[in-house]
Amino acid sequence: MCDSRTAPQIPTAAIVRSAVVMFLGRLGSLNALEQSSSSAFWRKWLRGDPPSADTVGRVCAVVEPDSVRTVGRQVYSRLKRGKALAPPAHGLMVAVLDGHESHATYRRCCDGCLQRTVETRNGRKVQYYHRHVTLQLVGRDMTVLLDAEPIRPGEGEVTAAMRLLDRVLEQYPRAFDVVQGDALYANSTFFNFVLSRGKHALAVLKNETRDLWSDAQSLFADRTPVAIQRGRWLADCWDLEGFTSWPQVSQPVRVVQSVERMTVRRQLDGQEEQLEAHWAWVTTLPAGQASTQAVLEVGHRRWAIENEGFNELTTRQHADHVYRHHPEAMLVFLLLAMICCNVLVAFYQRDLKPALRDRVSMLHISRLIAAELYLYRAGLPAAPL
Ligand SMILES: [Zn+2]
Repeated sequence: MCDSRTAPQIPTAAIVRSAVVMFLGRLGSLNALEQSSSSAFWRKWLRGDPPSADTVGRVCAVVEPDSVRTVGRQVYSRLKRGKALAPPAHGLMVAVLDGHESHATYRRCCDGCLQRTVETRNGRKVQYYHRHVTLQLVGRDMTVLLDAEPIRPGEGEVTAAMRLLDRVLEQYPRAFDVVQGDALYANSTFFNFVLSRGKHALAVLKNETRDLWSDAQSLFADRTPVAIQRGRWLADCWDLEGFTSWPQVSQPVRVVQSVERMTVRRQLDGQEEQLEAHWAWVTTLPAGQASTQAVLEVGHRRWAIENEGFNELTTRQHADHVYRHHPEAMLVFLLLAMICCNVLVAFYQRDLKPALRDRVSMLHISRLIAAELYLYRAGLPAAPL
């Protein structure tokens, strides 16, 4: 780790290690971390007193985010070397991009804040908020949060996503084959950017007033769909490539559409109900490289970043908490939360035996880590797993 302080009094590594304990133990705040300062754990972990909440916040504002990203790459390399990160059955590693708003406030702003005007009961008010784009790698049974990039004032999500992707492609050139996102990423600049870097793009195709959508609908209308079973869902799928009605993209694209149905029994009255969902994706993936079923599976795995990425990060790692309202500090805390999330997931998925995983949750593991802080304080032995 490196920082730009002229004469650091407390080693940055100790401060970052303290923040790591905060995320692994899901303590949720720097104050909670500081309250554990009398725990003997810190003397063992840091060989000294832990830094104060204020010091951790201040130092994280001057730590270079790239230093933290280096640690993230080391975690990824170890997972790869240990063959912990295998592609799904279709053989394609997928990188999912998505934007996320971390917090909003009317009271404080910083150089990195975005602004919007909001109608409130007391009239129109300027609200300040932060958004970032995250890239998550989706493997067979494990996801890894690779990197994040803040959306700067005045720019759109796709612009920030391309900046993020540019760096990720340089640092993880062979980590994935396909990059995908929601309908926002059905953007010709983005598709051409991904193609120019030797990867394939996939995005949700929405029913908009675009020629590609109209062309696909008219061609699909005359074709019999192919039925594909996807878990409990039965999908009627249409799949055609060679569309040239999106001329801004440097090569013809493929459209895959599905109407998916599943019968469920309602808990309330025991009656059967049929659920139906409509999906469409546009992609540069050729049929020879990805079957219809593969595109369907890749498209649906986009939700992994919501369910396994942001959900884990925000609800359990407290990544949305503003540990210090400073653009660099917020990015550093987010990157640290992502690394800790990856480490916890890897430990849980790969180090614990299945029988033990059946008995304990990841949350339980974090609570045990937190408990070490408090047990040491009370002079009690550490809890067994
Ligand atoms: Zn701000």
